[in-house]
Amino acid sequence: MSLPSFEVVRPRTLDAAIEALGRYGRDAQMVAGGTDLIPSMRQGLFAPQVLLDLKGIRNLDFIRFDPEQGLGIGALARISALVDSPLLARRFPVLHEAAKTIASPLLRNMGTLGGNLCLDTRCLYYNQSGFWRESLGGCIKKDGKVCHVAPGSRMCWAAFSGDTAPALLALGATVQLAGPGGSRELPLAEFYVNDGLVRMAKGHDEILTAVRVPASSAGWSGAYKKLRIRQSIDYPLAGVAVVMRKDADGACLEARVALTAVNPAPKLVQGADLLKGRRYDPALAEEVARDAIRTGKPLRTSASTMEYRRHMVRVFVRRALSELWLDGRSQRTS
Ligand SMILES: Cc1cc2nc3c(=O)[nH]c(=O)nc-3n(C[C@H](O)[C@H](O)[C@H](O)COP(=O)(O)OP(=O)(O)OC[C@H]3O[C@@H](n4cnc5c(N)ncnc54)[C@H](O)[C@@H]3O)c2cc1C
Repeated sequence: MSLPSFEVVRPRTLDAAIEALGRYGRDAQMVAGGTDLIPSMRQGLFAPQVLLDLKGIRNLDFIRFDPEQGLGIGALARISALVDSPLLARRFPVLHEAAKTIASPLLRNMGTLGGNLCLDTRCLYYNQSGFWRESLGGCIKKDGKVCHVAPGSRMCWAAFSGDTAPALLALGATVQLAGPGGSRELPLAEFYVNDGLVRMAKGHDEILTAVRVPASSAGWSGAYKKLRIRQSIDYPLAGVAVVMRKDADGACLEARVALTAVNPAPKLVQGADLLKGRRYDPALAEEVARDAIRTGKPLRTSASTMEYRRHMVRVFVRRALSELWLDGRSQRTS
């Protein structure tokens, strides 16, 4: 479990980082807080010759809100800064709640939003020591040909297990990428690829620089529900982010539901459209919850069973929708 040797390159500007990525190519890997990458390197999952430390790049650590431009968060903003932000707590509660559930205080203080969005996918057969993996002959994601989760499949089913992505998906966020060809903006929903190997629609030489949430998503009520084994420090086994906008009479004007940790990519649940213009109706909440378990397809990628994770996705969607719809009025929601 010791770290392999590597060289560290510390660019001070974005241009220098992009230039270094071009120079070292696949031998280099980016690191921000290192809270995901370094443990993976210890497990022998990656052995880059060069670690490109992004932390020294100026101007990528910010959280700002403009009533016209919306919310902007730099890739190097720490998760603890999201948690400590009164702006997020007040105007983007779903993102604030999701950030609070990430790892532990120490890890939140090192981990960044960019690293959280670019997390490697996780699987019971992959996030193990080299010795453990070797005994199975590797897997399709590392040193092998078979996906042990779905042996008949040609793709990797490792699950995307970040907590901020579903919250940002529900808020309609976009990501900004910078590379040798300049910068581009992409809806977060198009950034992820539903294959545990491919993971993101991003070149190796592209750096995620910022996230933008449209001003129209500010002020929506939001909830984030997370299933995990250790409540104090753990990746999600299933995560559900829900946002809602209501009229003065409490009817739902619009709602969005997104899932994490149950597919190789975080996903929006289309059925949430059913709630437009509707007053609280537990049967409708149940219908959206059923659509969520058609969208979320947990497989044997984690220590928990897929049946339990599916069940909890349904419970969480129903519970979160009811909480937001009723807005604190007493009603049994489980
Ligand atoms: C015990 C433990 C528990 C954890 N629990 C959780 C949890 O509950 N929820 C959760 O979401 N995460 C969890 N994590 C993972 C991690 O701590 C967080 O996701 C953190 O936000 C990752 O950010 P980082 O800056 O440390 O990423 P890094 O480790 O630095 O990078 C992660 C990946 O992103 C890439 N990357 C980083 N920044 C950029 C960028 N700007 N552009 C392009 N690529 C980039 C890196 O190359 C690497 O592949 C846990 C980790 C540990 C060790």
